[in-house]
Amino acid sequence: MLPQVKTKTQKLAKYQEIIPGKLYQEIESLARDFKGLKVAMINATPRGGGVAEILKSLVPLMKGIGIKAKWFVIPPGRKFFALTKEIHNALQGKKFPLSFTSRRLYHRYMERSAKLMLDMKADVWILHDPQPAGISQYLSDNDFHPLISRIHIDTTSPHPETWNFIKGFLLQYDKIIFSSKEFVHPDIPHKKSVIVPPAIDPFTEKNRPLALAKAKIILKSFGINPQKPLVAQVSRFDPWKDPVGVIQAYRHAKKKIPNLQLALVGLFLAYDDPEAMKIFRETKKEVRGDKDIFLFSNPEQLGSLSVDRFVNAFQTGADVILQKSIREGFGLSVTEAMWKGKPVIGGNVGGIKLQIKDGKNGFLVSSPQEAGERIVELMKEAKLREKLGKAARKTVREKFLMPRLLRDYLRLFKELL
Ligand code: UDP
Repeated sequence: MLPQVKTKTQKLAKYQEIIPGKLYQEIESLARDFKGLKVAMINATPRGGGVAEILKSLVPLMKGIGIKAKWFVIPPGRKFFALTKEIHNALQGKKFPLSFTSRRLYHRYMERSAKLMLDMKADVWILHDPQPAGISQYLSDNDFHPLISRIHIDTTSPHPETWNFIKGFLLQYDKIIFSSKEFVHPDIPHKKSVIVPPAIDPFTEKNRPLALAKAKIILKSFGINPQKPLVAQVSRFDPWKDPVGVIQAYRHAKKKIPNLQLALVGLFLAYDDPEAMKIFRETKKEVRGDKDIFLFSNPEQLGSLSVDRFVNAFQTGADVILQKSIREGFGLSVTEAMWKGKPVIGGNVGGIKLQIKDGKNGFLVSSPQEAGERIVELMKEAKLREKLGKAARKTVREKFLMPRLLRDYLRLFKELL
């Protein structure tokens, strides 16, 4: 059996007050057909990054409506994760020559993982992202259906060589879920693709209301001056999150707002992300001794404070949140900040465009300079911050909370079973 991640159970009733009544009823009605259904979720890492964040809440909620959902991870491997990070980057558009040795390494891991699945039983299999996607090649045809691949990354313009490699596996799935229509490559037959954007859980410690005063106390304990304006980006140190561009945007804004502070929160948590250290070093270089820039990468810095509370403090305590990605599968960090009523300035790409409507519930930008200008505008106008933040929260309530994601899975199960 693949290593299993422990999960709790969460009752749907807990969400009744905050989600539309119609959605609640639809879930209740769909759930009746799926009591006892065995669902296996499989991904690469039990923590760090968006996929783990979703499964941590979605699996408990599935259990809460009577589904026998379980969460498994594929066995970790340093070389393998270095390769799959390259594959991830190539699927988001970076050039990457996929050597014979790399292909063989990937296949070897897939075969090994598939062997661990031989004694597992489920009625629906959902494999998240490219790391385990190739397992499909090594599964016996009869026992592992329906087989669903859930791709969370921005595949708007993948590098052809890697796309062709991964596509071969994807086509063996019964359905492939993407977060946005834009990500569906013409090679994917229409009937196989499903569009489902992700969602956040309002009840985790990360997303529960945290009083502004408390958030500021936490920020202060990490050296941030609560009296001075703060812009923050909460994201892994990753090339697509453009941390260097964030610093450039801040520098641009700082010309007009000299006491501006910047925090980049990207704790090294995910063990399938070996690239983070390199990008962190590059980012640190760009700081050039500026005492108003704060980088957080080491989880040990937090002491007894939980990661969720730490992130919550930044998303609550910052005046403006930035997510300056140049590719983005969805951007849960954006959703989390919007849920807290924050004005978010996001890169005009992929999943961020699903969430932010420019000028209505946040801003979309295409360069560090544009981001810098929006920071200045927002920092100067409290009313605008409030207006956008309010609209942002409404967007999340209506579209991006966990029960909606559950509903979309149930609809898909209904179609498949
Ligand atoms: N995150 C975190 N600690 C950090 C940085 C990020 O817990 O130091 C979380 C963040 O709050 C969000 C997730 O990691 O829940 C990132 O998901 P997103 O979809 O934004 O990006 P991904 O990492 O999946 O590309």
